[in-house]
Amino acid sequence: MAGDQPRRVPLVVLGGGPGGYPAAFAAADSGLEVLVVDEGDGPGGTCLQSGCIPSKALLHVARVISEAADVSAAGVAYGPPSIDLTRLRAWKDGVVAALGGGVAQLAEARSVEWVQARGVLRDAHTLELSSPAGETSLLGFDRLVLATGSRPAWPAALLSDSPLVMDSTAALDLPDVPEKLLVVGGGYIGLELGTVYASLGSRVSVVEMTDGLLPGADRDLVKPLARRLSDRFESIRLRTSVQSLSAESDGVVATLGSDPGEPEEVRYDRVLVAVGRLPNSDRLGLSEAGIEVDEAGRVVVDRSGRTSVEHVFAIGDVCVGPMLAHRATADARRVVAALGGHEPSQGDGRPDLVPAVVFTDPELAWCGLTETEAKAAGRAVTVSRVPWVASGRAHSMGRSDGLTKLLCDPDSGRVLGAGMVGVGAGELIAEAVLAITAGLTASQVAAAIHAHPTLSETLSEAAEHSEGRAIHLLPRRPRK
Ligand code: FAD
Ligand code: NAD
Repeated sequence: MAGDQPRRVPLVVLGGGPGGYPAAFAAADSGLEVLVVDEGDGPGGTCLQSGCIPSKALLHVARVISEAADVSAAGVAYGPPSIDLTRLRAWKDGVVAALGGGVAQLAEARSVEWVQARGVLRDAHTLELSSPAGETSLLGFDRLVLATGSRPAWPAALLSDSPLVMDSTAALDLPDVPEKLLVVGGGYIGLELGTVYASLGSRVSVVEMTDGLLPGADRDLVKPLARRLSDRFESIRLRTSVQSLSAESDGVVATLGSDPGEPEEVRYDRVLVAVGRLPNSDRLGLSEAGIEVDEAGRVVVDRSGRTSVEHVFAIGDVCVGPMLAHRATADARRVVAALGGHEPSQGDGRPDLVPAVVFTDPELAWCGLTETEAKAAGRAVTVSRVPWVASGRAHSMGRSDGLTKLLCDPDSGRVLGAGMVGVGAGELIAEAVLAITAGLTASQVAAAIHAHPTLSETLSEAAEHSEGRAIHLLPRRPRK
């Protein structure tokens, strides 16, 4: 290596997740020569390899199991499911492999070079690459997009060498179906993977340190979910944290502390720790390259995704903003536009326009302003709620345990926020996202004819209700 001039390419994307690979593809489509460096052994990053996709594959199976059980209310009874864990694991891995193959093909078809290596910045124009075989080389670049994502956070009290103490990646490998599973953290991962294991037969206990599940969501949306989960899970303990974990050969003893109350020792067969994620910004050589990070280690970027170093950009989980795949992809588009010299447009990079979906049963989704945020800011809004007991479709599915709500500006009628809980809420939120992003008013949403009987009618009814003219709800006076 010494004495040789390193190879230099116009654009390197470091990380090939839902931020990195769309950035590379969009850059290639705009005529740039681009090389992706990713240390993983498959494309797609956390999302495809150990996040969104495998978890949603397993949640699909969980939903089928619970729907098969629920239909007994209509007189159709199936026996308890017989679960072949080896086949389930292989099926889930097949879903990941098929999508990974698709991404690899698209990269090849676009002549995007993909290098499997770990990259660390040596200076503002050079990466040192370490291949899985341990070989190192230098790679120079004119411009760089950092898309290195995030990894599970792990509080010191929960550190353990035992394979019985799992992070989300280990839990998605389905090592077995533990009889008793402790889930630490009542957020996205804890509730989604808790749902998977509960449906496979585990007795799931969740401990959450705050006073409610999914702290970022409005409480009226969380309520129907919490109600159903309290039937499905063995226990949900709020204001509780795990003070220590002591691993034994065939189980783990957790010391649970809640205030008020004495610490309590409980034995579980496995533990899943899901208490948030940390940006992969350390051990990257960022300071050597002069790239600024905030106190939480997140790369600081401007509205076009540019870091404190002019020719280096950052996208996705590694920088400030919601740690969601579609947000990383949206960042990628914005950064490629900036690489082409385009200024970000109004609304670009606004975190409130990133929809959030929790794929539990029922699903919970929201976008734009939340009611909690409106209250905290003292902002007047018209809130219209449509409980799904008013929906013919929800009843015909035996699932009226839902709620759709809209937050509108009381003067202009513009839709500012939307929240939904219920079966399929993750799909339904898309229409609200469009309304909020396009600046539509409640009247405009209501004027669009929604097919009957569909759950989407709950959105048009919420829009009508905000103007006091919903058919299936009594008229209301707009509340300010
Ligand atoms: P990542 O997907 O983390 O990709 C980063 C890539 O960079 C990785 O491939 C990594 O190998 C590579 N890398 C890191 N450091 C280096 C280095 N030094 N050198 C070379 N390569 C490097 N989000 C959703 O929107 N919907 C969901 O349903 C959802 N479900 C999830 C379920 C789970 C269990 C988890 C853990 C996450 C989930 N997420 C979901 C979050 C989502 O996975 C992330 O927000 C998303 O993957 C972030 O994309 P990214 O491109 O920023 O980073
Ligand atoms: P999270 O932030 O969603 O939830 C973590 C929860 O753990 C919080 O409720 C927090 O109060 C609690 N907590 C923190 N420390 C604790 C402790 N010591 N004891 C008990 N509870 C504790 O984080 P996550 O579930 O790990 O997921 C990480 C991120 O990945 C999410 O924030 C989200 O951005 C992304 N994700 C998204 C999806 C999706 O889009 N459907 C699914 C999974 C993950």
